Amino acid sequence: MTGKKLQRQMQQEMIDKKIFNQVKEYAFDYADKALERNVYPTDEAIKKLHIFDEQLPDNIGDPLGIIEVLHKYGSSSTVTQIGGRYFGLVNGGVIPTALAVKWLNDFWDQNTPLFVTSPITSKLEAVVESWLKQLFNLPESTVAGFVSGTSMAILCGLAAARFRIYQRLNWDINSKGFINAPKVRIVAGQHAHATVLKAVALLGFGKDNIEWVDVDSEGRMILDKIPELDENTILVLQAGNVNSGSFDYFNEICDKAQKTNTWIHIDGAFGLWAAGSENLKYLTSGIEKADSWSVDGHKTLNTPYDCGILMCKDKEALVSALQATGSYIVYGENRDGMLYTPEMSRRARAVELWATMKYLGRQGIDELVYGLHERAKQFAEGLSENGFKILNEVVFNQVLVACDSDSETEETLKNLQELRECWCGGSQWFNKKVIRISVCSWATTEEDVTRSVLSFVKARNQVEKK
Ligand SMILES: *Cc1c(COP(=O)(O)O)cnc(C)c1O
Repeated sequence: MTGKKLQRQMQQEMIDKKIFNQVKEYAFDYADKALERNVYPTDEAIKKLHIFDEQLPDNIGDPLGIIEVLHKYGSSSTVTQIGGRYFGLVNGGVIPTALAVKWLNDFWDQNTPLFVTSPITSKLEAVVESWLKQLFNLPESTVAGFVSGTSMAILCGLAAARFRIYQRLNWDINSKGFINAPKVRIVAGQHAHATVLKAVALLGFGKDNIEWVDVDSEGRMILDKIPELDENTILVLQAGNVNSGSFDYFNEICDKAQKTNTWIHIDGAFGLWAAGSENLKYLTSGIEKADSWSVDGHKTLNTPYDCGILMCKDKEALVSALQATGSYIVYGENRDGMLYTPEMSRRARAVELWATMKYLGRQGIDELVYGLHERAKQFAEGLSENGFKILNEVVFNQVLVACDSDSETEETLKNLQELRECWCGGSQWFNKKVIRISVCSWATTEEDVTRSVLSFVKARNQVEKK
């Protein structure tokens, strides 16, 4: 085929829309079946994925055939995240309006480094930045960067901290790097998320240099165990422990840290949204005293993947840490998104974040967030009534469950996963094995929780029978 022939074929595909109509049909078929199908793919479905093991094709493919094979073998090997009984990791569901908007956004296929590359995205990023600031009650000077997730957001927050602290020490870290640099300290709770360690490693601080703070039985930093702080220190706090869902005592800790001008970063991947619930916002009281915050849209807020946000009250530090220059990069008066992100080319994730926040509004965010908490409480009560042990205070959306022994817990979890009525992962909580529940989707109903509790009981009964 000559280049022109391929081009004509693709023009035709854009014009006749057959492939898009077919995808729409498959997508709707998937959505209709999602609520009944296994929450986790069967071993058989996963085995069939070998169909994808092939050499790079020599020739141009048949679009409808490509889409068909993907639906036939791919859809059945997905994890049913859009349903109400997936409780693994901290994976949010998806708000229908945001999903629909994502389709339109897909057709736009915007690249978003600069205002000139996508005025609409620049506008929506600015709007969402201001909405987030209001919702979380953050300082007026706060700016937001729209990144792939909290991993990246933490990296950006700590990069801004690094820049600012070194600048105060008269050391241009961007130019000079770490060789012969003065020491900057990192203080974090023992339960800091793995991605905090990753960011520390990527930024060159070295994980071994983290000063760890002991935590209490819920995984919160113990105030008295925080070492002497100073202005050359980055303190990393947590809104939402990835296991227990607990929140650090922001008011007390931040008051102490602010006296010494310590840079405070709060990792609030899923927990920061507690600020949007009247009944739960006591958990985030004091967050406004920090310098930077990382949070996900794709977890608690249920935007489509991927969507993470870094917020920083020190715009100059963030921009200095991340800014790139080049003869063809034209920054303007309007918001240029790449000033606030490590990436240059990026998809327009703020479009879906905007649609989600516009759809939910304050009331909807409150209902969504509090609903997750209510379902988590129901889960914990249901399991407790059935003889399971709940090892954490269910302050937010996370529930840690154990049986009488570690081996019984592990076997119950294995059986539970094989039943596929719901899906949970395992974890370790202090010295105990646990089954970890994260209620993270708007789609989880009371009925879903009841069904899932029954599946827990069945899974444990299967252990007893052996
Ligand atoms: C999920 C999570 C992260 C990482 O976020 P990603 O969006 O997966 O990159 C960091 N911290 C906490 C507390 C989390 O729950």
